[in-house]
Amino acid sequence: MSSLDLTPLRSRFRGELIQPGDASYDSARKVYNAMIDKRPALIARCVDAADVMAAVDFGRENKLLTAIRGGGHNGGGLGTCDNGLVIDLSRMKGVHVDPTAGTVRVEGGCLWGDVDHATHPFGLAVPCGFISTTGVGGLTLGGGIGYLTRRYGLTIDNLLGVDMVLADGRFVTASAKENPDLFWAVRGGGGNFGVVTSFLFRGQPVKTVYAGPTFWPLDQTVEVLKAYREFILKVPDGVNGFFAFLTIPPVPMFPANLHNMKVCGMMWCCTAPPAEAEKATKPLRSVGKPLLDHVGEMPFPVVQSLFDGLYPPGLQWYWRADFVKELSDEAVARHAEHGAKLPSMHSTMHLYSLDGAGHRVGNTDTAFSYRDANWAQVIVGVDPDPAHAAKITKWCKEYFDALHPYSAGGAYINFMMEEGQERVQAAFRDNYTRLAAVKKKYDPSNFFRVNQNIKPA
Ligand SMILES: Cc1cc2nc3c(=O)[nH]c(=O)nc-3n(C[C@H](O)[C@H](O)[C@H](O)COP(=O)(O)OP(=O)(O)OC[C@H]3O[C@@H](n4cnc5c(N)ncnc54)[C@H](O)[C@@H]3O)c2cc1C
Repeated sequence: MSSLDLTPLRSRFRGELIQPGDASYDSARKVYNAMIDKRPALIARCVDAADVMAAVDFGRENKLLTAIRGGGHNGGGLGTCDNGLVIDLSRMKGVHVDPTAGTVRVEGGCLWGDVDHATHPFGLAVPCGFISTTGVGGLTLGGGIGYLTRRYGLTIDNLLGVDMVLADGRFVTASAKENPDLFWAVRGGGGNFGVVTSFLFRGQPVKTVYAGPTFWPLDQTVEVLKAYREFILKVPDGVNGFFAFLTIPPVPMFPANLHNMKVCGMMWCCTAPPAEAEKATKPLRSVGKPLLDHVGEMPFPVVQSLFDGLYPPGLQWYWRADFVKELSDEAVARHAEHGAKLPSMHSTMHLYSLDGAGHRVGNTDTAFSYRDANWAQVIVGVDPDPAHAAKITKWCKEYFDALHPYSAGGAYINFMMEEGQERVQAAFRDNYTRLAAVKKKYDPSNFFRVNQNIKPA
């Protein structure tokens, strides 16, 4: 790379160009998952769409493997690469709220916390995920599953358009009216089609929510999970919460006698008015004998950032996931068995609801093809210590292997590591062929291939 001439890029580029040997190289190349340790040849930290166009041209003309970094959160480290170019959007953080139109324009390098901060004073929220430090770019392009899915759909169901730079350096808009084939593909197809410089979202009227945890001892798992699977599919869309196995963190917000205890539980986040949400959640919260039931009204950004402190950047993460249609008695038994073996304080398993508004969009309406699944299941082994990487990985794989036979077959691309082409195809099912045709049209040379890759048809 040192033999490469950066002069043509410098003349077009306003942001930072960072190479091995530069003082900021080691911090700039780090991604959220410390299990990923890649050494790009060049990090192009863009400040605007013109920089992105220049970087794409440079990468293409120099035949560089090119990765796009939004928030850098991807489990498999798909926001970076070895020996290639990273188009880093982390300085593109503008958020513009139009309170009259109820829309939110978000630049490609924003994290969800940036969006929550900007929208909350207007009484709006864009449906996002379950933590505020995740990048808007990767989360949105994969679909976007979160606290507001049952009420307002996936993040992509609230996406009105994107501005993006294609592999040939052209800047285009994709929306229902302009380049609709591309707009279909970016709603679930990941970073396969170009660099999104900005997203235009519909904001939803969310200010405060009825939220918080209910935890049960592990010996009540089967009873709780069986009650949960019936309960959640019947409650109104304004009620949501994910089921989890977790270890109660030793922090002052939890009673000291519960610290470090492994539990199963619900993390609630309901948009229904508090009295309605209280009534609707009661049947599940009354199952068995909860250890802790601490639910109340709070600002949406507070719920969104509750886990930020527990999961700072720099931990080891190993991910496995699947979509799930049914939670059979056998699957519940397997969950109880493996959930009880959480290998570290940070390791967890979550079941996220996809029904409600998420189900009112068809399997082929967007590239996200598992609208008929009821849950996205994610198992993550997490630990601060690299010496424990093998232990958390083993637990995660064994848990996944035990549950995979009960799954719908494929996984949410944003919860996958690099798991091979078969798993990518399983994630898109019948939509894969159409995605491959769109890929051929907009990126025939597969320039953007550091992702859950769709091969050009
Ligand atoms: C702690 C944690 C919590 C999470 N919670 C949720 C959740 O609640 N809901 C959920 O749906 N997902 C969740 N995820 C998964 C998350 O959606 C993915 O990790 C996602 O890839 C992160 O996006 P990013 O921009 O931060 O990632 P990056 O690593 O920067 O990029 C990931 C992929 O997206 C592409 N990409 C990113 N930005 C752009 C862009 N602007 N234009 C084109 N391509 C781009 C990249 O090419 C790459 O392939 C979570 C992840 C973590 C680590």
